[in-house]
Amino acid sequence: MGKSVIILSEDEIALVRESSLLVGRTLAEVARHIAPGITTDKLDALAEEFIRDHGAVPGFKGLYGCPSTLLTSVNEQVVHGLPGKVPLKDGDIVSVDCGVLMNEFYGDSAYTFCVGEVAPETLRLLTVTQECLALGIAQAAANNRTGDIGSAIQQHAESCGYGVVRELVGHGVGRKLHEAPEVPNYGRRGHGVRLHEGMALAIEPMINMGVKEVKQLKDGWTVVSRDGKPSAHFEHTIVVRQGKAEVLSTFQYIEEVLEKRGITTA
Ligand code: MG
Ligand code: MG
Repeated sequence: MGKSVIILSEDEIALVRESSLLVGRTLAEVARHIAPGITTDKLDALAEEFIRDHGAVPGFKGLYGCPSTLLTSVNEQVVHGLPGKVPLKDGDIVSVDCGVLMNEFYGDSAYTFCVGEVAPETLRLLTVTQECLALGIAQAAANNRTGDIGSAIQQHAESCGYGVVRELVGHGVGRKLHEAPEVPNYGRRGHGVRLHEGMALAIEPMINMGVKEVKQLKDGWTVVSRDGKPSAHFEHTIVVRQGKAEVLSTFQYIEEVLEKRGITTA
């Protein structure tokens, strides 16, 4: 990760927006197929085909040795779950993280889906994590600091009794998937890196129903909650603006598909 923050031009922001919207459309393609019985391998193949059909390349595949287009994290898996042959089952949640690279710029977004009928307390976790994302984004205005984002996310999650993952954080987005600064989901108001108009950031709360601690599985990728309780992850790529951040990615396409299919959303 580069040390100095990057301020994008409006032309560059437009390219990050295009990449981010393609991520949203890719996740909507995933949404069309989310159901008990489908494997995350299948979702991964669909996503890769969709991205390549749109003239882009998967943003994660090959980066840091990542073998897949999507990272799919089921239930107690927090992030970085690798797609596989285990079918999703009724009552699961699956966090699907996706990046694309197009015109030399990345977009990055994640959404946690319900599979079939999900327990009310799990649905509550999803709702609160989306609220955390919105509260974090609301702090991403010029002259605020990364600590304002983290503090807003942390306070809301902890007020609901949830654990905020410390080991994994949001980040700048640009010509690299991960740019400076780090954007933790915890912190203190008025602390951290100052935000400037034109900084593109991935804001991505990872919120555990139970303890905040996580561990990594032996596959070297999958991060799980230490107590085995469910974890949720929602992520948008945004650009810092004066007064109010502009969200570059979108959940709109996903939610239109889920609504049409009668699938519960947070
Ligand atoms: Mg992501
Ligand atoms: Mg990210």
